[in-house]
Amino acid sequence: MLNLVLFGPPGAGKGTQSKNLIDKYGLIHLSTGDLLRGEIAEGTELGLEAKKLMDEGKLVPDAVVIGMISHKLDANKDAKGFIFDGFPRTVAQAAALDELLESKGSSITAMVALEVNDNELEHRLLLRGKDSGRSDDANPEIIRKRIKEYNDKTAPVADFYRGQDKFNSINGIGSIDEIFAAISEVTEKY
Ligand code: AMP
Repeated sequence: MLNLVLFGPPGAGKGTQSKNLIDKYGLIHLSTGDLLRGEIAEGTELGLEAKKLMDEGKLVPDAVVIGMISHKLDANKDAKGFIFDGFPRTVAQAAALDELLESKGSSITAMVALEVNDNELEHRLLLRGKDSGRSDDANPEIIRKRIKEYNDKTAPVADFYRGQDKFNSINGIGSIDEIFAAISEVTEKY
């Protein structure tokens, strides 16, 4: 199995590059952000709870996203592999993901971190907010809160994978094709 963690701050290009990876390697895309937005659209209780936190730019509780991922792994037993996009966002989530995969006789192959500076991220998210309809992309204050959550809680996840020799840094500024070529090169190393 090819299991990739696509890592990086909001606006780094994880969603865009996930699409390319799905086309090339036939992987299943698991984005906790998309799954949460699906719950909100369906008006579930989980969605209502998550929406409050998402609108404030805060992370939702670990147990919620771990539960969603566990469910999706079970529902896709014959997958060639997965792209984890926007998950894990805390060290506790990374440890839980390792356990979930291990219980299925699998593991994370590699983590690919897209590096983009904060100014560029803010600029990209504000642009995206103009046509994505995502309320958390439209407000500069919420964007800064999301980037702060990333720096405080999510950036340490890189060290978790560094410790397993699975960390790969990629420059997230450049053309979509250039960045995809760099990701493919990493993927083919494993
Ligand atoms: P995203 O689409 O990945 O930018 O996620 C949008 C929002 O959903 C985030 O700002 C968080 O509030 C929430 N979220 C998505 N994934 C996670 C996660 N793995 N852990 C905690 N919160 C998450």
